[in-house]
Amino acid sequence: MPESIKLPTHHTSRALQTVDSSLQTNLQHFSSRKFFELEQTTQLLSEFVKNNPDSIDEYISLGRLFRIRGYYRKAFKLHRNLLYRPSLSKKTKAKILTELGFDYLESQTSDYGQDYFERALGLHRNLESAEEGLFLSYQRRNQYINAITWIKKICKRHPEKKSTLARVYAELSLAQLKNKQIKQAKKSIKKSFKVSKEEAFSFLVRAQIELHEKQNDLAKNTLQSFIEKWPGYSLFALKKLEDLHYETNSYGDFGNCLQKILAHHPNNSYVHHYLANHHIKMKKNDAAKTSFQEALHANPHNIHAVEDYLHFCLDLKEIDLAQSIVRGFSLALKSKREFECLSCKKSFAHIPKDCTRCMGWNTFRVRYRFEGP
Ligand SMILES: [Zn+2]
Repeated sequence: MPESIKLPTHHTSRALQTVDSSLQTNLQHFSSRKFFELEQTTQLLSEFVKNNPDSIDEYISLGRLFRIRGYYRKAFKLHRNLLYRPSLSKKTKAKILTELGFDYLESQTSDYGQDYFERALGLHRNLESAEEGLFLSYQRRNQYINAITWIKKICKRHPEKKSTLARVYAELSLAQLKNKQIKQAKKSIKKSFKVSKEEAFSFLVRAQIELHEKQNDLAKNTLQSFIEKWPGYSLFALKKLEDLHYETNSYGDFGNCLQKILAHHPNNSYVHHYLANHHIKMKKNDAAKTSFQEALHANPHNIHAVEDYLHFCLDLKEIDLAQSIVRGFSLALKSKREFECLSCKKSFAHIPKDCTRCMGWNTFRVRYRFEGP
């Protein structure tokens, strides 16, 4: 993906220094990709290249900014014009070609930039960004074998990318499963786990294969480990796990299964919530109440749990309890509320008279910031 933007390293005048330092500040926020800041950075860079028409890195960065903001044509035009510059070094040419590859890749036209990445690598062997681009270009076209070749090569230098390799093996496995090539699918998912056991997607594919093979207990185990490993993403797996218990006529066991997860991960609000609903279906109202309370204790902002808990109380005609749930929830909401200045993005816990940073009036919007379960 786009590397950090190269800053101008030489200053010829004070004016330039000013541009440079505001660029620095803007680029520090760059990762947040706020439109406002991207817009400002674009303006600063445009200004810079106007005064320094010979610059190359800044032009490359400007094109990359256009790409990030979705102006692919602009990005492409700007990068392509750079290629016509006289006496470019091979290295620089390779860099520009790589950018062009990404312009194509990200614009999601039928061309995936493959040609540009290959040309870049022809000029500059082992150019990492071009290798990455070529990998992505194969992966997006579901050309898994080629994608695997390239990501393997990248992994040699960057072992931290192993989870990506595991992911591609899992994608291949899923494609094979869909093509009814079960044997190959099993092989690929095995490879995926051999490379890394930290890729969430691989767990889901493995569960799918196990289900296909009617190995229901294995599938239950796989889903269970998924929920334990990625609590923040566990909603989908919980739903699948519940369905699986229904389909295999073992819904009574679903509660035990959830209890087992909670024994090691008592703070997963989603699991408590599912357990509460399970208790309701098993007609254990007291246990359901406890589980709802646990769910909201673990995450007071779990709005689905609040909703189900309220319905449950109203069904039982427990109006006092329902009222206290509503009160608790609005308190929890307020604790996550902030007022953001629309002009300068400064946040305040209470609505101020005017913005203490930019002195703006009446330009605040309400925002809520929530965490996962
Ligand atoms: Zn402000």
